[in-house]
Amino acid sequence: MPLLSPRNNGRMAQSAAGSRNSQLYTVEVGDTRFQILKRYQNLKPIGSGAQGIVCSALDTVTNHQVAIKKLSRPFQNVTHAKRAYREFKLMKLVSHKNIIGLLNAFTPQKTLDEFSDVYLVMELMDANLCQVIQVTGLDLDHERISYLMYQCLCGIKHLHKAGIIHRDLKPSNIVVKTDCTLKILDFGLARSTGTSFMMTPYVVTRYYRAPEVILGMGYKENVDIWSIGCIMGEIIRGAVLFPGSDHIDQWNKIIG
Ligand code: AMP
Repeated sequence: MPLLSPRNNGRMAQSAAGSRNSQLYTVEVGDTRFQILKRYQNLKPIGSGAQGIVCSALDTVTNHQVAIKKLSRPFQNVTHAKRAYREFKLMKLVSHKNIIGLLNAFTPQKTLDEFSDVYLVMELMDANLCQVIQVTGLDLDHERISYLMYQCLCGIKHLHKAGIIHRDLKPSNIVVKTDCTLKILDFGLARSTGTSFMMTPYVVTRYYRAPEVILGMGYKENVDIWSIGCIMGEIIRGAVLFPGSDHIDQWNKIIG
């Protein structure tokens, strides 16, 4: 069942209903079973996050490399279901060169009763910013750092203009290519600004958390700018800017 008509192959949506099983195959990636469309071949694990495993693959229809994320048990509870829904909806809606684009989405299940797995197919990037910081250490020059930060701010500005706060910006959900182009990933915690006033203080990964979030004061778009500042500091120093060991220590590191 396609969740989205593929951008690059309009015929897929029509033919999918007819011969479901012949279009699918199963492959084990580590401990995870991927049951995916045959057009995606040569799967290799490239990362894992709170929501599931990500593989690179060759899209044999377009002959381009893609990233495929299998959401892990997206319907196990309401929180997971909401997170999966938000990510899918926002990736589908938002179109900007510094935000990861959704190319396709599908489920191998045939009926609503069986529906349990969701696969998201995205543009493939080369590495996340954590890996870049680890590998390059302090070697990134001023020009590259400026260009990375500029793209990050462009992506976030676009989200904010659309009324979306990301809330979980951190080096592992920012991905780059070797040509220094950058895209923001992972909308699992993104919220619309209309309802942003008092939200849970535990949403942003601790090191990148803004003071108003730590103090549970309610927050708005500028929490994302704080996170980008922390990321910039980390790229320049080669180490986390405010490495708080817990909630209180995070605050002490900021004011200390
Ligand atoms: P996520 O579950 O979206 O947080 O992704 C987990 C990890 O998988 C990221 O930190 C990246 O290293 C990798 N990853 C996810 N999506 C992509 C992508 N489109 N291109 C390259 N790597 C990705």
